[in-house]
Amino acid sequence: MIIQEMTMTEFEEGLKKTQTIIVPVGTTEEHGSHLPLATDIIHVYEMVKEAARRIGVFIAPPIFFGLCRSTRQHPGTINVSGDTFRSLVRDIVRSLYAQKMRNFIIISGHAGGTHMSSLTEVGELLLNELPEVNIAVVSLFELIEKECLDVIETKRDGHAGELETSLILYSKPHLVKGLGESSYPQIPPYFLVRDKRRYWPTGVWGDPTKASAEKGKRIFDIAVDKIVNLKKELEKFKG
Ligand SMILES: [Zn+2]
Repeated sequence: MIIQEMTMTEFEEGLKKTQTIIVPVGTTEEHGSHLPLATDIIHVYEMVKEAARRIGVFIAPPIFFGLCRSTRQHPGTINVSGDTFRSLVRDIVRSLYAQKMRNFIIISGHAGGTHMSSLTEVGELLLNELPEVNIAVVSLFELIEKECLDVIETKRDGHAGELETSLILYSKPHLVKGLGESSYPQIPPYFLVRDKRRYWPTGVWGDPTKASAEKGKRIFDIAVDKIVNLKKELEKFKG
């Protein structure tokens, strides 16, 4: 049940079947010279829509913005502040709760530390505020990390690398412009750097040249199974 495509009546009928909703979150940020800026939300949105075809669950309109730390100076990245991001997510959950939604899976295609901490912080505030709410906060990478080791060859694969390139090659191949190049950021540990591009000119973390649509399909299927399970588990859970 994809909210942005439903009518008011369908929404009301849907609530009789389930009060569970998945809120897909991503970012609009550089993903090297070969992947689209909205990579983080494109792959997660495709996964949750596939999960919704298999099980009865609402899918919220995707959130295309988040906290981008190391990529915020690269061309095309649209960064929002933590305050804006937390307020947006909080208001969306509050509004849907007022519409009788009770179980929320907030799943992010972007796994940055400050971004995920912000989501967890909002989730904790909402738990205190809304007595009947159940919330799961997870990044796609946490969800599939273990199983991905069998599929992805690159050690320390991360942003715009083998994993993400494979996923976009599978779900939106026309948006992939070549396979990029293997690279890793050279940002020194502990120090906060002003000029991020100087230490990470390619914007790639990993080896996208090892990507393939076949690997993308395997990871996609693993992720959809995990999302389906998470929905069932959350409905049994009382947080
Ligand atoms: Zn990404």
